[in-house]
Amino acid sequence: MSGRVALITGASRGIGRAVAIELARVGCRVAVNYQNSGAAADELCAMIRSEGGVALPARADVSLREQAESLVATVTKELGEVEILVNNAGITRDNLLMRMKDAEWDDVLRTNLSSVYYCTQAVIRGMMKARFGRIIAVSSVSGLVGNAGQANYAAAKAGILGFVKSVAREAASRGVTANVIAPGYIETDMTGNLPDGIKNGMLTQIPAGRYGLPIDVAKAAVFLASDEASYITGQVLAVDGGMTM
Ligand code: NAP
Repeated sequence: MSGRVALITGASRGIGRAVAIELARVGCRVAVNYQNSGAAADELCAMIRSEGGVALPARADVSLREQAESLVATVTKELGEVEILVNNAGITRDNLLMRMKDAEWDDVLRTNLSSVYYCTQAVIRGMMKARFGRIIAVSSVSGLVGNAGQANYAAAKAGILGFVKSVAREAASRGVTANVIAPGYIETDMTGNLPDGIKNGMLTQIPAGRYGLPIDVAKAAVFLASDEASYITGQVLAVDGGMTM
């Protein structure tokens, strides 16, 4: 994987940050996309460079087509054609359906699903031409089994499955794979604010008996991005300690 160009959306914190670190450690040149956490993205890139890697901080709100497209254009100019795309950026705006606002629905659908469409569309031509590409999208167990209070989030995360499987079918003959990772409960800022009652209840649903760590997801992403995973496409890999088996 040495020298491959990888773009990770939402890489300033949490799971995306771990994916960027692990891809850099196997020799990828990484573009660290962020929206608001510029200092964190800069710090991460400095850390990767201090380990001898190549890292480029790249600001863009990937929920907007123009910014997603200019993100890919910038990365292509600075590092070369994107060979590995990890669609990771995501947000939650939890509410029970009875109380859900259109803004909560729209924000989550745009950030968690439309961004995957925009970014993947912006890289797919280059990948098909190069006859190599790895598209990975971070969904969620909520997209597999649903979750009370997350109708918007689960709809977006389930949408990713249909999208990625369709892209996988369109691109398979050109050496481009597209796969989904569905994390369970991973310890990040996203889950950090959940009430203790919900967190403890969640733990009883995890056969592994522990919450996941960003690195658990990152290791799966590195494998799916590798040459060794060339015959795996259109798949959904749950990284959830057995939660949804
Ligand atoms: P997190 O700690 O809240 O980090 C979210 C990241 O996404 C940040 O780097 C943030 O960037 C970025 N982001 C948000 N909106 C963006 C936008 N419009 N454009 C560009 N970047 C944007 O979340 P996380 O827990 O690492 O989650 C990462 C992914 O895993 C998400 O798709 C999430 O749905 C999924 N997931 C998480 C869990 C979990 O338990 N944590 C479980 C299943 C799935 P800035 O800070 O720079 O704004």
